[in-house]
This record gives sequence, C-alpha cells and structure tokens, in this order.
Amino acid sequence: MSKISTEIRSLVAARAHYVCEYCLIAEADAFFRFQIEHIISRKHGGSSELENLALACVFCNRYKGSDIATLIPGTTELIPFYNPRTMRWREHFSLEEVRIEPLTDIGEATIRILQINQADQIAERQLLYNRGRYPSEAASLLITEH
Ligand SMILES: [Zn+2]
Repeated sequence: MSKISTEIRSLVAARAHYVCEYCLIAEADAFFRFQIEHIISRKHGGSSELENLALACVFCNRYKGSDIATLIPGTTELIPFYNPRTMRWREHFSLEEVRIEPLTDIGEATIRILQINQADQIAERQLLYNRGRYPSEAASLLITEH
C-alpha cells in the first residue's frame, strides 16, 4: 500500500463522482470504503500522480492487484486493462441491467480479471437496481463524461 494523502483521495473520489470507475457501484452503496487504485501499479513503474489514479471498490481493486494486462485465452496476445484516465468506459463496456458486458478485448480482459460480473457483485447490484440505485445518477455522469 502506498501513502495517498487525504487531499489526493478527495480529488480522485470527486473526479469519479464517488463511483467505482470499473464496476460503477457508488461508494455510498458499498459496504467497504473505496480505495485509490494505481492504474499502472507501482510495481510496474506507475506514478502516484492524479493521471495514474482511479477510484475503485474493494472487489475491483483486489482482483486487479498489481496486474496491468492479460492474455486473450489460448493466445499470446497481451491486452491491457481498461484505463479510466485515457479510455472511455462506454467504448469498452455496456451495462445490461446489472451485468457489464464487454464491447472490446480491453473490456473483456478487464471484466474477466477484475471478476466484475462475479455472482456476489451481481447480487449486490441487483438489489441496488431493484431500488433504483444502480446505476446511480453519478454513475451515469461518470460514463457520459468519460
Ligand atoms: Zn468496482
């Protein structure tokens, strides 16, 4: 874990409208406080500057770990993960009620490794969806802006 100042955390969280930049769940609806994630991990030389930081829920951050890419199954083709700073969410993913479906190889790689459609997360999103809280207005803002 690197040290992220309170000020940086606030900036990153506000920029993301307090929504996980991968699975779009709102921090206010999540059980655990969100984390500031290094898009390119420090292990791979990523900086702690704002342009390398994203807001992520504990699940997305946990499964991503220090990974930055993966292989297309059965190939040697390396696919980077979605980068919330340089890519647009809606170009790589589409939200089908509570499932996040890939539109690109980058979307597929990110969903698979971050386990974005894992059963527990789908169940949590379904509860929120039923209450009209997923996707939240903030999530809609995030995906239209980015
Ligand atoms: Zn997430």
